[in-house]
Amino acid sequence: MGQGNTDHPGRISQDDCDVVFPVDAQQRFNTVKNWIADAVRVTVLTGAGISTDSGIPDFRGPQGLWTRDPEAEKMATIDNYMSDPQVRKKAWQWKLEQMGAEREPNTGHDALVELELSGKLLALVTQNVDGFHQQAGNSADKVIEIHGTMREAICMDCGDRTDIETTLDRVRAGELDPACPLCEGILKSATISFGQGLVEEDLARAQRAALDCDLLLAIGSTLMVYPIAGIVPTAREAGAIVVIINAEATGMDEIAHAVLRGSISDLLPRLLSVRG
Ligand code: NAD
Ligand code: ZN
Repeated sequence: MGQGNTDHPGRISQDDCDVVFPVDAQQRFNTVKNWIADAVRVTVLTGAGISTDSGIPDFRGPQGLWTRDPEAEKMATIDNYMSDPQVRKKAWQWKLEQMGAEREPNTGHDALVELELSGKLLALVTQNVDGFHQQAGNSADKVIEIHGTMREAICMDCGDRTDIETTLDRVRAGELDPACPLCEGILKSATISFGQGLVEEDLARAQRAALDCDLLLAIGSTLMVYPIAGIVPTAREAGAIVVIINAEATGMDEIAHAVLRGSISDLLPRLLSVRG
């Protein structure tokens, strides 16, 4: 590590890490651990891969929901959801199964709580809608749920939001496509589907966090869903070190300073714990 950037206290100069690109996995792990130890402001981007060890399938991994059932992608596309009651029924049944099982955050989520406790976490941008980061103990003001949350239902007409369980109780009671109790509008989980815009303010916060960090950790994402995947090159161009942790290749491996391949729930606790 070199002197850092004097304009930006704590920033690790990009020149320093371009010369360090070890090919050996253990060496690479140790290098990344040192980068994290030296960093002052870490922005984290998480995807579905951090939650698979909690029993929630990802979409595009080898066991992913869409890999096994390409039809399921329809549920996540807003036009299909709004126009087809069968898609809505399938979506609510799927949600019932997801929410019915006892599921908890795993050691990967816990490691990101440790990162926050160390004082280094600038922002935790998540593509996930499972609410596990807050449940594990990350502060609500650090977590940016860029694709919304499945813990709430929203009316697509009047915007009324309620706890998802209120709507799921109605589905359990036999209303397979429940309507908004206030205006009869279509209800949907408060997740951002394909074809829906992101919340501008959330995207702006995520972009700011990419510009202001020393180090960006992208964890458990294929980095194929835009615009949020774009914060990875944004961080890189702004001078941050970029580290990708994922079981398989991602769309951004080429621009990362280091890529760690392996199980997130195994790697993250070792990487982020002061106990090594
Ligand atoms: P993705 O499904 O496109 O990719 C997940 C990646 O994680 C894959 O490359 C897979 O190989 C890797 N992976 C899975 N389990 C892993 C593990 N234990 N260790 C290491 N790597 C692992 O996910 P995405 O890029 O986040 O995009 C999918 C979109 O779907 C997101 O935008 C998100 O909103 C949504 N989604 C959310 C959840 C959730 O909330 N838990 C689950 C599925 C999908
Ligand atoms: Zn309504």
